[in-house]
Amino acid sequence: VTSYFDIGANLTHKSLLPDIENVLARSTEANVRSIVVTGTTLQESHNALELCRQFPHQLWCTAGIHPHHADEWNSHAARVLEVLAQSPQVRAIGETGLDFNRDFSPRECQITAFEGQLGLATQTGLPVFSHQRDAHDVFLSNLKEHRSDLNAVVVHCFTDNESALRDYLDMDCYIGITGWLCDERRGLELQRIVRYIPENRIMVETDAPYLLPRNMPNPTKKRINEPCNLPHILKTLADCRESDVSSLAQSCYANSLRFFGIKQP
Ligand SMILES: [Zn+2]
Repeated sequence: VTSYFDIGANLTHKSLLPDIENVLARSTEANVRSIVVTGTTLQESHNALELCRQFPHQLWCTAGIHPHHADEWNSHAARVLEVLAQSPQVRAIGETGLDFNRDFSPRECQITAFEGQLGLATQTGLPVFSHQRDAHDVFLSNLKEHRSDLNAVVVHCFTDNESALRDYLDMDCYIGITGWLCDERRGLELQRIVRYIPENRIMVETDAPYLLPRNMPNPTKKRINEPCNLPHILKTLADCRESDVSSLAQSCYANSLRFFGIKQP
């Protein structure tokens, strides 16, 4: 049986959390065995950890402040995240990075929060779960400055172009692919370039409840994305790379265990 690892799902989101038992049952049914719950604020990072404690060996999480909430970052936030990061379920710092597409937080704030969290990742030795949207140049220079001090880095939900992809691979980053790939309008460039990602640097994620794959044969009626849709993303990825689904799934799984430092029996 092919097992799947969802490296990013927002399971504490209000559209998923009340139904979590069923969401996880559907995920298990689809052989999505392991999920990393994304922390996006101090409160959500705390909630993510609580959820992981209820479902050990199935759920892990990140602790961090998303660029949309970057104004939450200060020295108190740094201390809270540092304490959260000591829990064995917390496997990465993030989601952190820069989002100049929506600009929900001032750019200066985003840069400060990003650099602060890169410092926290250095200090804890945890990998970085990063987010970059329409901010490649600044993101790259921030990351470059810290790269040699950091453990592993993933650019999650990669949606940028080929030259950005090559910049990240040159810095030995992992690349996270979501259902953006399945979008027949905005996913075309991504469909062309995913073949350039080395098999030992690629991972997959749903980013649930967001980014429901547009080419799903039977999309759920409620239009909410769930981890159980991950095999569909992986199938699309294998098609784009002209590779075998089950061997690609195995590679993604092994990469995810290595990236998050998870040992499985
Ligand atoms: Zn993101």
